[in-house]
Amino acid sequence: MYCLECGIKLDFNAKFCCNCGKPTPMSDENKVGRINIIREKKMFAFAISFSVYVDDTLLGYLKNGTELSTDIVIGPHKIVLKSTEKDVIQDILLTEEKKEVDITIEPKMGLVAAKPQIKEINYK
Ligand SMILES: [Zn+2]
Repeated sequence: MYCLECGIKLDFNAKFCCNCGKPTPMSDENKVGRINIIREKKMFAFAISFSVYVDDTLLGYLKNGTELSTDIVIGPHKIVLKSTEKDVIQDILLTEEKKEVDITIEPKMGLVAAKPQIKEINYK
């Protein structure tokens, strides 16, 4: 996201602008949602991690049977899952009614190794 005051690019979960100090919508709890990315536990490809990006910022590495979560301002966001295969891109939309989303990932056999595949998206 970008600072509404000075326009600098901020981390998606920043509560204040690191340049001018203006609070972002993340400092208003009514505007904060949550993204949970859950990788199913499988015996297949268990040693391969997937990289997870939210709005072009690295959130972390998704290992077998683990979960990555972050608070995030409600609105549209882009999730990108990277592996040795083609990136998986998923747009999501958090609203005041549906502030939280669970995205379930299932590893599938790819050309080289394992690739992430979105199994289920559940807004709540
Ligand atoms: Zn600023």
